[in-house]
Amino acid sequence: MKAFNWQEAFGERASRIRASTIRELLKLTQRPGILSFAGGLPAPELFPKEEAAEKAAAILKAKGEVALQYGPTEGYFPLRAFVAEWIGVRPEEVLITTGSQQALDLLGKVFLDEGSPVLLEAPSYMGAIQALRPFGPRFLTVPAGEEGPDLDALEEVLQRERPRFLYLIPSFQNPSGGLMPLRARERLLELVMERGLVVVEDDAYRELYFGERRLPSLFELSREAGYPGVIYLGSFSKVLSPGLRVAFAVAHPEALQKLTQAKQGSDLHTPMLNQMLVHELAKEGFPERLERIRRVYREKAEAMLQALDREMPQGVRYTRPQGGMFVWMTLPEGLSAEALFQRAIEENVAFVPGSPFFANGGGENTLRLSYATLNPEGIAEGMRRLGRALKGLLAL
Ligand code: PMP
Repeated sequence: MKAFNWQEAFGERASRIRASTIRELLKLTQRPGILSFAGGLPAPELFPKEEAAEKAAAILKAKGEVALQYGPTEGYFPLRAFVAEWIGVRPEEVLITTGSQQALDLLGKVFLDEGSPVLLEAPSYMGAIQALRPFGPRFLTVPAGEEGPDLDALEEVLQRERPRFLYLIPSFQNPSGGLMPLRARERLLELVMERGLVVVEDDAYRELYFGERRLPSLFELSREAGYPGVIYLGSFSKVLSPGLRVAFAVAHPEALQKLTQAKQGSDLHTPMLNQMLVHELAKEGFPERLERIRRVYREKAEAMLQALDREMPQGVRYTRPQGGMFVWMTLPEGLSAEALFQRAIEENVAFVPGSPFFANGGGENTLRLSYATLNPEGIAEGMRRLGRALKGLLAL
């Protein structure tokens, strides 16, 4: 028998599908006793456990033949109608996806050829980089900070390149926590409208604002301007449950049809029971639920910032988020976040080093802290440990 070789059996694309070194590192964060600020895991105390148990049983009893049957690729209609009302569109404009993560994969399938330019913020969501990379695109990046992408840099890139789409997270960006001000949103739209470019707006953190109100999305602004080129991604992961894997895309009918066809080949449809359960859980008391979620995350963010102000040595910079789940930290130039990670693990605390969020490299002295998962006491203790690890590294 010939020696069997899987690596020879795989297609070329497989070489672009890799476990990131970071995901390997993150396995360490699951050790008992570790306070982890690494994963972007929503607060488990906010999950509607009892309600979900009751409603799932009721759905199966009353509508089991629908919940357990194949369903339409576009999604369970009452859920599409709910999303439509939430987002301010028509149900026909909504495609239910299996997490926003699936939408990112579908966008890659539909829009990218090998070598296609695609524009991302640096840093950007690691999962998006991971979803798009197998399609072999050429990543164009522009620096992004507390006020979103650097629009001068973006304009300069657009003078020489025509990306298939711009992937942006204008509100409470993952990982930087950045929030694009209204004026920046308007300028960005002008830049893309002049050129007829596609924007993918990932608004996973849409409802997690700490201030008085939500800023209008790029999608909403584009509709006002009569521009069809913005594809909007939203999710129930941060407002109900990430484990149910129910999210949605809103787009112009031509784009939505193509994404729907791509989804058909991917999973036929998102699980019916999950869609029906999300609909049942969301259809009553959703505004109150969102209020509560905002309050809990606001308190957690506050706890983290107070602890950071107490524990961090001079020269360490961090953002003061106005929403979302993350604080983004920049260590003094020359310090490595991966080196800090090793020390942090010894102190039983974990975070994500920032470099994998940069599609084209860089960011070695940055890191992301999520305040979403732990309670305020855990957050305070974790930041004490992180402060100790950092002081240890600085004393080297
Ligand atoms: N986009 C962003 C910006 C995210 O942070 C996440 C989740 N961490 C996702 C998409 C994926 O969300 P979902 O659970 O809907 O797949």
